Amino acid sequence: MAKLKIVKVGDTVLRKVCRPVECITPRTLTLLDDMIETMRAANGVGLAAPQVGVLRRIVVIETEEDGLFELINPKIIAYSGEQESEEGCLSVPGRWGITRRPMHVTVRALNRKGETVDYTGSGLLAKAFCHELDHLDGKLYIDCAIRMLDN
Ligand code: ZN
Repeated sequence: MAKLKIVKVGDTVLRKVCRPVECITPRTLTLLDDMIETMRAANGVGLAAPQVGVLRRIVVIETEEDGLFELINPKIIAYSGEQESEEGCLSVPGRWGITRRPMHVTVRALNRKGETVDYTGSGLLAKAFCHELDHLDGKLYIDCAIRMLDN
C-alpha cells in the first residue's frame, strides 16, 4: 500500500466529472487500498478518487460507528430527512462549514468483487455518502454550505 498525495481546493481536477469504472482490475484494487491508507493517515472519514488525482467513480468511507465502505460507481438511490451539521474536507484543509444534508441515505455501488451492494447510513455516514459522491461530479461542500465557520 502507498500513501497518496491529496489534491487541494483550487486544483481543477476537483472540478471534473469522473468516469465510471468499466472493469475492476488489480489496479482498481490497489487504488482502493492506497485510498484507504491515505484516508486513515489523514484522519479523514472519506476520500474520493479525484482527491488523489484519479478521475474515476471510486470512494472510500470509514466511520468509527459503521466501519469501512469501498464504493465503486456509487449512486444515491434513496434519501430522507434532513440534518444541519459541521462538515470539512481533506481537500479544503483547516476550514469547516455548516451544510444541510439528508439524515438517511441509501447508496448502490459495486464492491471490490464487482457485486452490487446497497448501504443505508444515517447521520455522519449519510453526510459522508453525499459529500464523497459530490466529489465524483466535481462538487465540493463549500459550494453548498449554508455558512462557513472560519472568520
Ligand atoms: Zn471532501
